[in-house]
Amino acid sequence: MTTIYLDNNATTKIDPLVLKEMMPFLTDYYGNPSSMHKFGGQVSSHIAKARHRLASLLNVQPDEIIFTAGGTESDNTAIYSALESQPGKKHLITTRVEHPAILNVCRHLEEHGYEVTYLDVDEKGQLNLDDLRAALRPDTAIVSIMYANSETGVIFPMQEIAKIVKGQGVMLHTDAVQAVGKIDLNLQTLPVDYLSLSGHKIHGPKGIGALFVRKGVPFRPHLRGGHQEHGRRAGTENTASIVGLGKAAELAQLNMDIESNGVKHMRDVLEEGLLKAIPQAIINGDTEHRLPNTTNISFKHVEGEAILLMMDGFGIAASSGSACTSGSLEPSHVLRAMGVPFTFAHGSIRFSLSRFNTDEEIKVVLQELPPIIKRLREISPFKCNNSADAPKCPC
Ligand SMILES: *Cc1c(COP(=O)(O)O)cnc(C)c1O
Repeated sequence: MTTIYLDNNATTKIDPLVLKEMMPFLTDYYGNPSSMHKFGGQVSSHIAKARHRLASLLNVQPDEIIFTAGGTESDNTAIYSALESQPGKKHLITTRVEHPAILNVCRHLEEHGYEVTYLDVDEKGQLNLDDLRAALRPDTAIVSIMYANSETGVIFPMQEIAKIVKGQGVMLHTDAVQAVGKIDLNLQTLPVDYLSLSGHKIHGPKGIGALFVRKGVPFRPHLRGGHQEHGRRAGTENTASIVGLGKAAELAQLNMDIESNGVKHMRDVLEEGLLKAIPQAIINGDTEHRLPNTTNISFKHVEGEAILLMMDGFGIAASSGSACTSGSLEPSHVLRAMGVPFTFAHGSIRFSLSRFNTDEEIKVVLQELPPIIKRLREISPFKCNNSADAPKCPC
């Protein structure tokens, strides 16, 4: 059975063209790019090319790009860099719906004398920018707000956020891991100081990412050691993966139209089809400001894990809540922050598509999922009890 892979916000398939470009750097071109000899030097020129491709995708200068070991490292580096370069400032602002790579850094910092303001979101998963204005303080070291949410695809108004934050002269980081490659990001017109991205979310390899640091913005390295990345990130370069990330960035730029047309169309067909075929289903999140590839749907009175298991039987791969919280029965922190009612939150499924999906695959999901939900509802353990958690309970 072939897999119908609709979990692209968790990770993506490596584009065969990316793999092809990487292979020589895992076999013949194993030289250390820091070496003086030609054998190493030729590798170093390919790293420069990758940096150039990534810079082009974001419309920035190549020397504003630092290669890291992924989105998590980029997020950590940005936060610690801002704190270390402004030792007097002990306050951070973020949101309740960030990735754990930001939230758990903030929680750790709270145990070490820092104060963190977590901005709430409304029922659509959107921020109230007045909350942001009110949270800014003279001792705010950094504001870190994700560009697009991994679970719902909700896009935050980064241009307005930047205007507010930079207007107060405060440093701004955005975790754009889910936005890069899916929507156009032009950092010439978006004045963020730091931006994180990850290779494996854009059809590149895992364990590679990048941090954009705007020229002139203070920077302190997170990893110290050798002089790689101009002393900004020590450690012998992950050459094959850097080359792969460069190729993935080039392909993302070339395929941007497919994301905003073809992928979005498949997502819309899937979403509309499911809502039509299945009663008591709702979309979670602001559908007007949303990634083209993501839909998060809650099916009332069913358990997300049960839906996933039954879809798995048909080779359909999606996710329920956040991949990082699955295994626990708590609804995801994102849906909780949005105040999604309990009876809906437990039955939420995230479908995240990519340019490798087909209309045929969407048809299969539209055929198989409605009967699955029907069957599960017949044996649902949830009893309709008109509790405060289920205000819209119909029975
Ligand atoms: C996946 C993801 C990360 C983590 O990136 P890794 O490369 O897996 O470390 C961070 N932030 C967001 C929004 C993500 O989706």
